[in-house]
Amino acid sequence: IVCTQNLAKSFGALKVLKEVNLEVYPGETVVILGGSGSGKSVLLQILVGLVPADSGRIWLHGYEVTQFRKEKDWYPVRLKTGFLFQIGGLYDSMTVFENIAFAMRYHLRLPEKEIKKRVQKILDSVQLKGVEEKYPAELSGGMQKRVGLARAIALNPPLILYDEPTTGLDPIMGDSISRLIRHLQRTYNISAIVVTHDLSCAFKVADRIMLLYDGKIMISGPVEEVKKSDNPYFKQFLKAIK
Ligand code: ATP
Ligand code: MG
Repeated sequence: IVCTQNLAKSFGALKVLKEVNLEVYPGETVVILGGSGSGKSVLLQILVGLVPADSGRIWLHGYEVTQFRKEKDWYPVRLKTGFLFQIGGLYDSMTVFENIAFAMRYHLRLPEKEIKKRVQKILDSVQLKGVEEKYPAELSGGMQKRVGLARAIALNPPLILYDEPTTGLDPIMGDSISRLIRHLQRTYNISAIVVTHDLSCAFKVADRIMLLYDGKIMISGPVEEVKKSDNPYFKQFLKAIK
């Protein structure tokens, strides 16, 4: 459902991504671990066309998106891809309700009553109640994160990219978000890429874990296998987190 070939990206002299080759199969959840500044957020943003890659190829939902020339080409791909931003990403001038409802109105053309019901249900699933009429700036960071999550899943996309879904949440909330991700995956067979530093989230949701280091995917394997990995970068990473 996602495939990249030799993806590279630099900012000036800084080579953030050198050669990223990854594949995510339908229904699979891949967790990408990596140090701060290793390029995880940049990678997700490149995948959905928010940041252009310097070179390499990307396929999403069967389209080679690196061949796209017009903004319009992206529409079907974006509709099928939920995106949770690490920070922000909400429309500041819209209420929580509007932030979630507007895509439903635009893409699904549902009656207003049905939209209300759905928004309610999604907000329940991320444990947010009574905030519909608030603006993002009036919410805590953890609440904003959950609104972002609600918006990412609102249209039931077959693929969701999560940038640090549990960061800024208390451990109990973090755990329930991890379980929600797992639930979406199991119930609707949703594919996902989850970028995180939160190992407990990683081990809970991952089918496969990857480590992004030095602009490349250094390890990739099933959770149990990766836990036992003696790759020095990975061991260093685990030690630093604990
Ligand atoms: P964190 O775990 O802290 O979120 P990350 O792995 O997500 O880190 P990125 O945000 O992907 O890291 O950033 C990777 C590197 O690219 C950083 O050194 C950052 O400064 C640089 N970078 C990201 N976006 C830009 C930009 N628009 N212009 C210049 N440099 C950028
Ligand atoms: Mg990041």
